[in-house]
Amino acid sequence: MKQMLKTSVIGSYPIYIDTLELVNDYFSERLSSWTKYIEQAVHDMTAAGIKYVSDGQTRDPFIQLFTRKLGGCRIRDRTEIIGHVEYHDPITLQDQKYTRQLLPRTTRLVGILTGPYTLTKSSVDLFYHDEKELCFDFAAALRNEAILLQKHVDLISIDEPFFSNELPEYAKELIGIITNGLSCSTRLHVCGDVSQIIPHLVEMPVEILSHEFKASPHLFESFREYSCLRKICVGAVRSDDVHVESVEEIVTHIKKAIAIFGENVVQIAPDCGQRLLPRETAFHKLKNLAIAGEIINGG
Ligand SMILES: [Zn+2]
Repeated sequence: MKQMLKTSVIGSYPIYIDTLELVNDYFSERLSSWTKYIEQAVHDMTAAGIKYVSDGQTRDPFIQLFTRKLGGCRIRDRTEIIGHVEYHDPITLQDQKYTRQLLPRTTRLVGILTGPYTLTKSSVDLFYHDEKELCFDFAAALRNEAILLQKHVDLISIDEPFFSNELPEYAKELIGIITNGLSCSTRLHVCGDVSQIIPHLVEMPVEILSHEFKASPHLFESFREYSCLRKICVGAVRSDDVHVESVEEIVTHIKKAIAIFGENVVQIAPDCGQRLLPRETAFHKLKNLAIAGEIINGG
């Protein structure tokens, strides 16, 4: 059986932010410095040999990145909900378009959306006082963004880390609002220990499920009886540990995944976004991941 794994990133990438330059740009109303940070992230990902890259989510942390541009949201220490959540303008589109024109022709682009449940759980609700209603308004707003993104990216990945803490009974409906009828591929990333919610995850209306199999290797066994149901993006290097996994270690891990999921292993990636790692470390992890992927594909 020939495996055709694609290497991917999950979300954020560590870059060096020059705060003084940002402040100067702010007061001179220049917007240019953000492109420099996207370039740093994209440079590292492509130089490491990753096939599905992102813009690195360099502009803002993954909650504020979305809530800063949505109506009804106010940024304080955390996002506060002070009115109806409404979509006014594109959120990540400009960064995706910029990223796209930096990429070699064979490199694919992942557009990342922070999921509605995670946005809800990370916000202080001063308006709705109804978690479900807030979730569905976030989902409707993200749907607008997804519709715009689908023409510019190859894959839309929805990040819902909070699903591993507590899965709402309307989770499938929520994700479906965003993914229904999209023309590009879709992926749901849920890090943390998902072993208790696997029967629900395999029902999600997305093409690919992405989980942290490196930090939580017991997930292999938990997934075994569901392994034929879904395409999988296997977390193969840790995002919470500065130890750089060797190529051999990663190859062994991927082989373990293939023994369980077979051809359903379509992507390998870090367990989660790499923002908290030193940049050099993040780069070396991606590089070893890419080499391991080539070994598996060629072997
Ligand atoms: Zn994650």
